[in-house]
Amino acid sequence: MATGDFISDQARVEVLRSQLHRYAHQYYVLDAPEVPDAVYDQLFQELQALEAQYPEWQSPDSPTLRVGGKPLDVFATVRHVVPMLSIRTETDTESTGAEAFDARVRKELELTETSPAVEYVAELKFDGLAMSLRYEHGVLVQAATRGDGEYGEDVTQNIRTIKQIPLRLPEGVPAVLEVRGEVYMRRDAFEAMNEKQREKGEKTFVNPRNAAAGAVRQLDPGIAAQRPLSFFAYGLGEVTPADQGGPAFATHYAMLQTLKSWGFPVAAQVDIARGAPELIAYHQRMGASRDQLPFDIDGVVYKVNSLALQQRLGFVTREPRWAVAHKYPAQEQVTQMLGIDVQVGRTGKLTPVARLNPVFVGGTTVSNATLHNLFELRRKQVRVCDQVIVRRAGDVIPEVVSRVAETAVTREPYVPNFRMPRNCPICGSAVVREKSEMNHRCSGGLFCSAQRKQAILHFAQRRAVEVEGLGDKLVEQLVDANVIRTLPDLYKLGLTALAALDRMAEKSAQNIVDALEKSKQTTLPRFLFGLGIRHVGEATAKELVRHFGTLDAIMDAPEDALLGVNDVGPIVAKSIRTFFDQPHNHEVVEQLRACGVTWPEGDPSSSGPKPLAGQTLVLTGTLPTLGRDAAKDLIEAAGGKVSGSVSKKTHYVVAGTEAGSKLDKARELGVTVLDEAGLLALLKPEI
Ligand code: NAD
Repeated sequence: MATGDFISDQARVEVLRSQLHRYAHQYYVLDAPEVPDAVYDQLFQELQALEAQYPEWQSPDSPTLRVGGKPLDVFATVRHVVPMLSIRTETDTESTGAEAFDARVRKELELTETSPAVEYVAELKFDGLAMSLRYEHGVLVQAATRGDGEYGEDVTQNIRTIKQIPLRLPEGVPAVLEVRGEVYMRRDAFEAMNEKQREKGEKTFVNPRNAAAGAVRQLDPGIAAQRPLSFFAYGLGEVTPADQGGPAFATHYAMLQTLKSWGFPVAAQVDIARGAPELIAYHQRMGASRDQLPFDIDGVVYKVNSLALQQRLGFVTREPRWAVAHKYPAQEQVTQMLGIDVQVGRTGKLTPVARLNPVFVGGTTVSNATLHNLFELRRKQVRVCDQVIVRRAGDVIPEVVSRVAETAVTREPYVPNFRMPRNCPICGSAVVREKSEMNHRCSGGLFCSAQRKQAILHFAQRRAVEVEGLGDKLVEQLVDANVIRTLPDLYKLGLTALAALDRMAEKSAQNIVDALEKSKQTTLPRFLFGLGIRHVGEATAKELVRHFGTLDAIMDAPEDALLGVNDVGPIVAKSIRTFFDQPHNHEVVEQLRACGVTWPEGDPSSSGPKPLAGQTLVLTGTLPTLGRDAAKDLIEAAGGKVSGSVSKKTHYVVAGTEAGSKLDKARELGVTVLDEAGLLALLKPEI
């Protein structure tokens, strides 16, 4: 070998060690990884290969010889009597990965070709963090992180908040029992938590593993308790020995079953596999269902089932010889962001979407990933042309998690090179954003083709103009086939066009035509609500009508005048104004009127007698003939108010069958209880 190569290899070893040390510190100690696992794994393997090639350069502090990271000294230190080790990783995600492991085990055990297949337990490799739970006389006394394998952190307070972890075990468990397993966060819990952060404009978590690790190492157990964590058991640490009354398991599988019977969560996917072919089958089976699992896994783990054989195989430095982690394609990868497009969702929300140099992540090639909103993009300081980390896990849409941090030397001040457009890229309507909101929206609700389906469904719903039978599927079909482009097209639908749709019987088509005809006779509050103006719900629509009387007056009302309406604040007023300021929305309203959609002029609630004026009623249970909405409409038309809860101020409670606590409360407070007939009598006092 040339001297030049020799020097550069040695220098490379040093560079790799210092890089890996830094990444491991960020990952294990600070819970803030700087690079995706795939990058770390690659460097780690490069170092392992170099150390194998040049054993003389091995050093006791090499990252390849160490487990995890040093415990943080803000927590009390716990010494693991039985060390918490790492697992050898098989990054060959193909079936050869399982074959190589089986071959190694057979060789170590000196088995010949004719010896029977080795029995393994195959498990999921949960992507969380390892935890050791110590029980003494059946009571949880301590929970510790893995730390560097020998010394971990005492995180008992935080772990106690995990509901899945038993605090007390049934009679008959060993006097000392350490259960080892993984603390993780379910993907839905993680998504919900991030969504909340996003709404508040606060920092989001990179992935569930990171969020779980951060929660476990929270100094405030109150905060840890708000982070929804889960647990799976997969092994044992220190246990009272068999000769002192402890358990004597023959196999790993039997041990897992016993842990389950003691109340520990054990994953349902644990399986016995004989020889390499069954390991491969397991790897493939779990790989195929990986996206449907409610939590992240980064591979599967194979363990020799017989504990006697495990003992014979023993350990090498930081890893047992009897186990291996067989990986799946990484769920996070680095790639370059080529540009940012803006997509308009069905509710009008504008989302910046990164156009990426295509990258294989989470098992598929990804070329677009969401950036969620402008503020998140800015907080992450991403720019077009940056190297970014992309995450794709489960059926959650791929997202840009962060940009790859540059070193201090190359970092420049952040100057964003993307702006939100002022006009909707789909329909050209004005883009708006409310002060307290993180999202930008298109204001062309009725006109914008991206929002078509949503707008039609909203308009046709029972509480709006009500087109009976016009549901999700049908709207989807009509819009996709381009039969309906804008809302007024609904009323141009003929029997022929409808009957021509897939799976549409003539009778159903006729029903829709009839329902459309019927829906033309509506009320102004229902029509106004049906337009889908942001923040204008049923109640606000009624108030607007009560105040202004006619649609034209509402459409022309300046913000000041709108502010004079009950319950209308600046945000709602602005939203109404912006909506009617879009010429397209105006046009759609006119067309609907031209199609024959009408309502009695004036406030429906101001005509006729008002027998319930000033009275508050509460509805509970199922009424024999009136639906909940119909009853509410009747009460309100009679001048009454419908409230959701019973108090001393309630005048009547109208109770149907299966009335619950509201009825009890009414009786307790002595509020008059009516049935449907009683209500109808109240409404028509003259009868
Ligand atoms: P490991 O991959 O060596 O696996 C051992 C761990 O697997 C155990 O401690 C346990 O927590 C877990 N595990 C999950 N399911 C299990 C099961 N059924 N049975 C037994 N154990 C199970 O873990 P490690 O040593 O913590 O570290 C390696 C991982 O950490 C790699 O994926 C690496 O990419 C990542 N890492 C990333 C960075 C970074 O900067 N991104 C830095 C350091 C490490």
